Amino acid sequence: MNVLIIYAHPYPASFNAAMKDRAVDVLGKAGHEVKVSDLYAMRFKATLDMDDFPDPCNRSFFSIANEMMAGFTRGKLAPDVLAEIAKVKWADLLIFQFPIWWSSMPAMLKGWIDRVFVQGFVVNLPNGQVYADGLLKGKKALISTTMGSAMELYTEDGPHGDLNLHLKSLWHNTFEFCGMEVVPSFYVFNAGEMEEFQVEAELDRWEEYLRMVI
Ligand SMILES: Cc1cc2nc3c(=O)[nH]c(=O)nc-3n(C[C@H](O)[C@H](O)[C@H](O)COP(=O)(O)OP(=O)(O)OC[C@H]3O[C@@H](n4cnc5c(N)ncnc54)[C@H](O)[C@@H]3O)c2cc1C
Repeated sequence: MNVLIIYAHPYPASFNAAMKDRAVDVLGKAGHEVKVSDLYAMRFKATLDMDDFPDPCNRSFFSIANEMMAGFTRGKLAPDVLAEIAKVKWADLLIFQFPIWWSSMPAMLKGWIDRVFVQGFVVNLPNGQVYADGLLKGKKALISTTMGSAMELYTEDGPHGDLNLHLKSLWHNTFEFCGMEVVPSFYVFNAGEMEEFQVEAELDRWEEYLRMVI
């Protein structure tokens, strides 16, 4: 299987980095091909703007959706976006590895999705190609994320509310919308302060989970 890990943490020695490294190691040893998009290391531009369309098809009125469609069809998007699109095309499984910031994903990852999931590539709204007919059909997506809070705080009745619902815009309104099959998410709670033995235990749990679902 071809696996693309989209990894969003600014610090190369972070716990999220260790999770990414463990996944690369485990999946590689199991015979899978693995690529990593290390967004901070790549200094990935995290804002969708007009520079993403170096050769607009309509110079009198700028429509992002139309420029995405035309740019994708003509291969005229920004080079960094085209490079990420090629990786997504190659991948059978996309693993999204990131810390929870403000009960959501880091802006860096949101920006990657805004820029890379272009219309015409992931969905085609005029043709109704979304959800079961989404253009990323046949691929799988897995969210792996960490938070400082304890699990009890992120339950339906807890003060923060259900974490699965916070992330629904990602796993449902983005991944399922684009036709992908979503693998149940992997969560590490209480990840802000950990002793070395806890880090090792969580990395082992992550390894076991990967072996089970991949
Ligand atoms: C802007 C912002 C917003 C946030 N919002 C939320 C929120 O809404 N909800 C919430 O629950 N949390 C929130 N947090 C907390 C955040 O989710 C956690 O701090 C984060 O998930 C921990 O992951 P990390 O990779 O950054 O851990 P790190 O800080 O890198 O590490 C966590 C612990 O593990 C240790 N460690 C890491 N790697 C190793 C290693 N290889 N070997 C031994 N020990 C190691 C570190 O010493 C540390 O004690 C927020 C944090 C920020 C910065």
